[in-house]
Amino acid sequence: MPVLVLLLLACRPECDGTRRWADIPVASAQPGDLGHQLAADDARGALDQLAAWSDLAEVCVHDVWIEDEVRGAYRVEGSYRLPGERVQISPFADDAWGVTTHELCHAVDHTIGLSDDHAELFPDDEVPDIPGYGGPTRTAEAFARICEDGARDHLRWQTAAACGHPMTDDDPAALARIQESIFPWAPRLAWDDPSLQVAVGAPWRATAGPDWRQGEVAADPDHVVVLWKPAPDGRARGARLTWHDWATGTRVATLDLPCTDPEWCPASLVPGDAGPLLRLDGALRVLGPGTLGEPLPCAASGVVVGDQGWRLPGGGGLERCDLSTGRTSSLEVPVPTYALAQQHVGTAVRSLTLAGGHVALSSADAGLSWRRDDGAWIDHALPWHLGVRAQAPLLGTSLQALLLETNDLDGQRLRYLAALDLETGELLAPTDPCPQVVDLHAGALLAGSGWAVVPEQGALLGSAPSFTPYAIGLEGAPLSDP
Ligand SMILES: [Zn+2]
Repeated sequence: MPVLVLLLLACRPECDGTRRWADIPVASAQPGDLGHQLAADDARGALDQLAAWSDLAEVCVHDVWIEDEVRGAYRVEGSYRLPGERVQISPFADDAWGVTTHELCHAVDHTIGLSDDHAELFPDDEVPDIPGYGGPTRTAEAFARICEDGARDHLRWQTAAACGHPMTDDDPAALARIQESIFPWAPRLAWDDPSLQVAVGAPWRATAGPDWRQGEVAADPDHVVVLWKPAPDGRARGARLTWHDWATGTRVATLDLPCTDPEWCPASLVPGDAGPLLRLDGALRVLGPGTLGEPLPCAASGVVVGDQGWRLPGGGGLERCDLSTGRTSSLEVPVPTYALAQQHVGTAVRSLTLAGGHVALSSADAGLSWRRDDGAWIDHALPWHLGVRAQAPLLGTSLQALLLETNDLDGQRLRYLAALDLETGELLAPTDPCPQVVDLHAGALLAGSGWAVVPEQGALLGSAPSFTPYAIGLEGAPLSDP
């Protein structure tokens, strides 16, 4: 039926000319204007990212143009206009990166006809029906609205597609189709890596009696360590440590701390590559199950790697203290080589962590720099679009545990552990990610060499050296199905 085919083709406007991704210019009507410049930077970032993730050699885009007044679309922050194939972006867009991605999704759709060919995957009931609106079909708009999220929040897609987890209303089949067609080269989690076998342990609870409340939580390779503080209306004074078996939660040791002033006992746990150390009354002490070492001549407030205590002094740089002599020295920290999408590395918030037995600095969510034994700094960008919440060493020197965070449609944050191979950049997640998907609201990742735990409001999501996650309830907190 050649006539019918011709008619169908005629429904889609011809493309005046395709360009290779790298040849698409990004330009501005007012290049000297700061708002225009920032929007152009974001547009360029979105374009480059989409280019890297796409397997299309050419796309139907003439240029990306930053202009105050974007006409011809009800989404006035951006448009993709035919004929001419110009992507227009407003410098007033709240999120020029996202708007550019949305418009480029239209362009890719125009190039390959995805929403036309799979209209059943992109129901248009959420798209407003505006009389006289001359933009894309409502099906094409429904497609672009899913596509724009996917480019920036790939993890959400993957989780939704793999688990059917209700973190998105979008049809997993639509997500999978967009992923295959639009972003085939986007980094993805290796859900099915056979080397990662997952067994979820039985939840257990730790308590220290009604007079205590849970303070900090840490772990060493064999135990979960809990620091207890006096409950406001309890009779306890000072502070207490308990050690628990990873798998069963059985308490194996208890230690009441020798606080100088039991009414005010400032104790905290300092992460170390062999397990946590205790900072008590300003002094640092090595911990063992039920035992407390002599005060060390350093008062590290950061992390301990081997025989060195490391901290980030307020004025920048990095400070190191020899745990045997107490001698301190300052180190310059080079500016990382990786780029941040939205901010400059130099001003990004940095924090101390551990990476495979090395002291490491994480810059916001963007990357990780660690110091090798020979003093050289290694930089590694993290997949920012995954929303990395925290990172910690997990499986020796090459793997880094990531606490991934993303948002579902209700604004709930979704977190779980995955691992990043620092050499290949490959992300590894447990074979079956779904039992690990838990809805958690606050917390941090605590870790040492070969372990990582996530303390949350009364619960822990833990990962032992074998990457076996445990869900652990603390102090009476109900733990939902992990
Ligand atoms: Zn649109």
